[in-house]
Amino acid sequence: MLQHNSRPEVGRFLQCTLPLFPRTTVNDHPLGLVFDMDGTLVDSGLDFQLIRREMGIADRQPILEAIQQMSPGEADRCREILARHERAGAERATLMPGVTDFLAEVRRRGWPAAVLTRNTRPLTLLTLDRLGLHFDPIITRDDAPAKPDPTAIEQICAAWRLPPERIVVIGDFLFDVQVAHRAAARAVLFTAGRDPQGLPGADEADFLLESFQMSDELFRWLAELA
Ligand SMILES: [Mg+2]
Repeated sequence: MLQHNSRPEVGRFLQCTLPLFPRTTVNDHPLGLVFDMDGTLVDSGLDFQLIRREMGIADRQPILEAIQQMSPGEADRCREILARHERAGAERATLMPGVTDFLAEVRRRGWPAAVLTRNTRPLTLLTLDRLGLHFDPIITRDDAPAKPDPTAIEQICAAWRLPPERIVVIGDFLFDVQVAHRAAARAVLFTAGRDPQGLPGADEADFLLESFQMSDELFRWLAELA
């Protein structure tokens, strides 16, 4: 019979307290998920090739970085083109199939979730509010250097008190993979049904996700990390 009223001996008490101070390992931390917005959480219909053509910049050239190299007048003209497209995208954006259930499962597991986007802060908030999505933190190009600069991931790590090894970035573009790896985080490339063969970032990504509606395998992979 257990003796609930007996005082523990000092030696046994010390032995019992030792497990209260385990050596902390990386795996003791929860995972934290960082989502790209346009093309990942939401389909905003942004046609970046059309935007480049209107601006007169080369195919595949990163738009924000190209604007930074322009004369002030040309940069203003191109910012207006970009703002027009981005506003239209925010107003017509719809949720990617399966995102609501995916995020509910992330919350059920107690993993924090952030948004990191190259969009502006006002249009990011407009998009997320319209679609009833909540993230903390939300980091836009108005808040930190744009992806693939890893500064924002470092800010998220600090906010969540998590090491980058516990962060998983989920996005549909090469920059999402690059920002993860530059910060020593993991990268999930959302292919949205595209053929991964030759898709920028597919070779470097740690996991390829075809659809949020088929995420069982991703959750198994994440659970192995968790
Ligand atoms: Mg994207």
